[in-house]
Amino acid sequence: MKLDRGFPLVRFPDGATLRCEHATALVKGEKVRAVIGDRVEVSVPDDHDMGIIEAILPRSRAFVRKDPTERAVAQVLAANFDRVIVAQPLAEVNRRRLERELVLAYETGAAVTVVLTKADLAQDDAQVRAVRDQVRALVGPDVQTIVVTSADPASVEAVRALVPAGSMAVLIGRSGVGKSSLVNLLLGEDVQETAAVREGDGKGRHTTVSREVIELPGGGRIVDMPGVRGLGLWDADSGIGAAFADVEALAEGCRFRDCRHGDEPGCAVRAAVAAGELAPERFASYQALRQETAEIKERREQARWAQGEKASHARAPKGRGSGKRSRGGKPRR
Ligand code: GDP
Ligand code: ZN
Repeated sequence: MKLDRGFPLVRFPDGATLRCEHATALVKGEKVRAVIGDRVEVSVPDDHDMGIIEAILPRSRAFVRKDPTERAVAQVLAANFDRVIVAQPLAEVNRRRLERELVLAYETGAAVTVVLTKADLAQDDAQVRAVRDQVRALVGPDVQTIVVTSADPASVEAVRALVPAGSMAVLIGRSGVGKSSLVNLLLGEDVQETAAVREGDGKGRHTTVSREVIELPGGGRIVDMPGVRGLGLWDADSGIGAAFADVEALAEGCRFRDCRHGDEPGCAVRAAVAAGELAPERFASYQALRQETAEIKERREQARWAQGEKASHARAPKGRGSGKRSRGGKPRR
């Protein structure tokens, strides 16, 4: 239910909660840790004031990014949710960031919704409609785009309808977009500290790193994910495919199946850009995100190879060669 000081807060079926630590056997070797939304098996020894997480049950869904501090390590931020809600400020939509957030959201396999916040800061209704329509065109027909503002609490009812009892939604978006305010509106009370409060406490806003499941009265659960600053892609091929379905459909027409849409002849994607059918910025985002996943894949392969190499050095006799591996013939995708 909550992750803050390293000891997950676990809720039992009867509603009781308990701070827990991880069993040594669970975290030895690999860095396996329970995350928000995980279902766990806990033992409660008599002589112990904390529970012990003995097992983490298989995750139906996970929100995964590249660990910002490691070159080739994934980091799971939340598990077992049904929907990802991507928040962007209506008057200042950052299109490139939105594209990245959509890739990460789609990659989880959960339902995706975009919420445009702080609509009261728009110049007028015409701007609200124009931005909403632009974002709708970007996200495609399957994703709902909802406009909200704290000036009109009823505006969040459409969001509430997407988080019914028994379901869980994860809320992502950069710090300051109004995620805590949205959660407070859904709750009808101030449970999540908003930025104004955090700044006032003198500790600075980046001190708030806890992640917590919040139960909406009569509804489902929502997790506001503060501190999600670096959203590096991890496994993102299917997420990119979903977020850029238009580009991938065009790519079907490329002469080469593994076309990189660079200088290959017969590239249908570049042809569409030249013909004005695909916006150059969108093509650039697509290429940049594809490049990023290709790089992280390469690094993971190198890390795996280095580990395998260490293991085989331990076992195999000396003089096995320098370990250089031919990269020739490697398929491009
Ligand atoms: P978070 O970091 O995403 O959780 O963002 P907060 O909910 O803390 O909001 C950041 C700032 O934006 C705070 O000062 C809020 O008062 C303000 N804010 C949030 N929602 C709205 C809104 O709908 N309209 C306006 N004008 N300000 C808002
Ligand atoms: Zn191409």
